Amino acid sequence: MTQIYCLKCKKNTDTKGEEKFEVETKSGKRHQITGLCSVCDRKKASFVNNKWRYNNKSAETIKADREKKEIAKYNKTVKRLGKKAIKQKIE
Ligand SMILES: [Zn+2]
Repeated sequence: MTQIYCLKCKKNTDTKGEEKFEVETKSGKRHQITGLCSVCDRKKASFVNNKWRYNNKSAETIKADREKKEIAKYNKTVKRLGKKAIKQKIE
């Protein structure tokens, strides 16, 4: 049984009637598990990793990952702008 975060209970709870889906997203295929909360019967869903496991990242790891992403995004923009600037100079 996978523990999925329940929005109503506001904590990770056990899941009844688990179903596995492959969802097509912008970033490719992702695995999703849906089911019912064993405490309050609310429907819940969560994306999981390729091994059908719930990804329990700590808040710090998520923050670090987000910062890394921001830096990569910034670098990409700078690179693009740099290329643009060079192109304009030649023309
Ligand atoms: Zn619940």
